[in-house]
Amino acid sequence: MPELPEVENTRRYLIEAGLPGRTITGADIGWAKTIQTPSLEDFVLGLTGGTVQEVTRRGKYLLLKLGHNGSKTGPTLVVHLGMTGGLRIQPAKQPAHPMVRHTFFLDDKTELRFQDGRKFGKLWLTNDAKDVLPPLSVDPLSEGFTSKVLRDGLDGRSAPVKALLLEQSIVSGMGNLYADESLFLAGISPLRPASKLSLKEISRLKDGIVTSLTTALEKYDQDRKGHWPDPAMGLSSWSIPREKTGVCPRCGGPISMIRVRARGTCFCPKCQK
Ligand SMILES: [Zn+2]
Repeated sequence: MPELPEVENTRRYLIEAGLPGRTITGADIGWAKTIQTPSLEDFVLGLTGGTVQEVTRRGKYLLLKLGHNGSKTGPTLVVHLGMTGGLRIQPAKQPAHPMVRHTFFLDDKTELRFQDGRKFGKLWLTNDAKDVLPPLSVDPLSEGFTSKVLRDGLDGRSAPVKALLLEQSIVSGMGNLYADESLFLAGISPLRPASKLSLKEISRLKDGIVTSLTTALEKYDQDRKGHWPDPAMGLSSWSIPREKTGVCPRCGGPISMIRVRARGTCFCPKCQK
């Protein structure tokens, strides 16, 4: 499932593929339920003629700011990649991947194609992205994401820290895989009640979060360079093994696979306390 590094990789891909400055001349929406707001008809009408001003990200959401008729103010196309979504910009004449559900026609004979095998992706067109986004913490890749911010998010919460790391209002963009990796890097058990973490541990956890995300992004940056124009949409960018026979890269002991709030969780019981 795309998490912050995958969505940020997609954002960087779209910029490098030249999306800013392109005008959307129409759209073919193959699965109407993907459109959250407004109606399908108004969605396509509102997009058409819009020039992409910038591509930004909030948590796991991509924001394509559009401007109409030379104006810089216009609606924003908000994209959530869901479980299996990915975006490509390809020449119109190139055959489309069979899992492309939606196509946005661009003014240079290319197409922005939204692949979405399981159809869990979502699209919104809105004048203010705040109206459609859930509460999101400051971005964990920004300078504003400090130990204090993380402590405030976890403060007084007795739930297992792993479960809380998945709350987008505490660490926006975090998902299951990078939550496990962050806890592994920090040496903290996913089952620890968040309110019982010391300040030192929270500081280590914050560092683990930042390291897990930036390490993944570096791999994606290299992959885009090496495999352009068709870089990977997903890479395994974590150090903790995610299979039953896995061995801890730190101590050589067996990895435990458990469920925390129904989410598959991998950790080393020896290294993570
Ligand atoms: Zn270990």
